[in-house]
Amino acid sequence: MHILVTNDDGVYAPGILILAQALSEVGDVTIFAPRENQSAAGHRKTLRTPLRADKVTLPDGTSAFATDGSPADCVALAKLGLVDTVDLVVSGINNTWNLGQDLTYSGTVTAAMEAAVWGLPALAVSVNRHPEPNLEVAAKFTARLAREVMARGLPRHTLLNVNVPDGTPKGVKITRQGTRVYRDELVSREDPYGRAYYWIGGDVPTGLPEEEGSDFWAVTSGYVSITPVNLDMTQHGFMADLERWGLKPGE
Ligand code: MN
Repeated sequence: MHILVTNDDGVYAPGILILAQALSEVGDVTIFAPRENQSAAGHRKTLRTPLRADKVTLPDGTSAFATDGSPADCVALAKLGLVDTVDLVVSGINNTWNLGQDLTYSGTVTAAMEAAVWGLPALAVSVNRHPEPNLEVAAKFTARLAREVMARGLPRHTLLNVNVPDGTPKGVKITRQGTRVYRDELVSREDPYGRAYYWIGGDVPTGLPEEEGSDFWAVTSGYVSITPVNLDMTQHGFMADLERWGLKPGE
């Protein structure tokens, strides 16, 4: 079995190395990740600039490929021929939880989505940055989960979004996406030539812990959260209502 390991924190991030080490007990591992941190890069497909893939060496001597493309590009390049076989894609271990609407921003999760586009089973794995990223627990659990996924398979166009709590997990909860509460603030400054420039600043997002059964509720209650995510983003429950709007072209 051949496992492609990627991330969005960059190929030199500690999370990808510990993940690759744990998964090497499960199958052959190829690391193919962005050279730089691409957190919140989203599901970007690079079509207008050339992509390079260079062989690099990680701190423990492991070989990896680094690219200037997005996390999703790493999966696409691998599938398009840069890696001989890919049976499973595992993305992470991200150093910040990916919960609720984070999935739309996350390079970690969108790399797994790219795998799902290609019909490959995929996992996205994230931990909390504070107080200490729980990397060892997350890596060990991911290796276990990878074995299950390879033995049982996943439904079409489906990935598993895994978030690991701080400390020793109380157990595993199968969850739905919760609600993130963003605390973004506009930081406005002036360049040396008098022109304004902006940062999206503010505090790290929180969530709604009272949403029982959600990803945020699970990790903040001390459980590993596994959300099965499908690429079909249709709001099925709204289709009949929308039908009743009676929309017609050209009116
Ligand atoms: Mn990241």
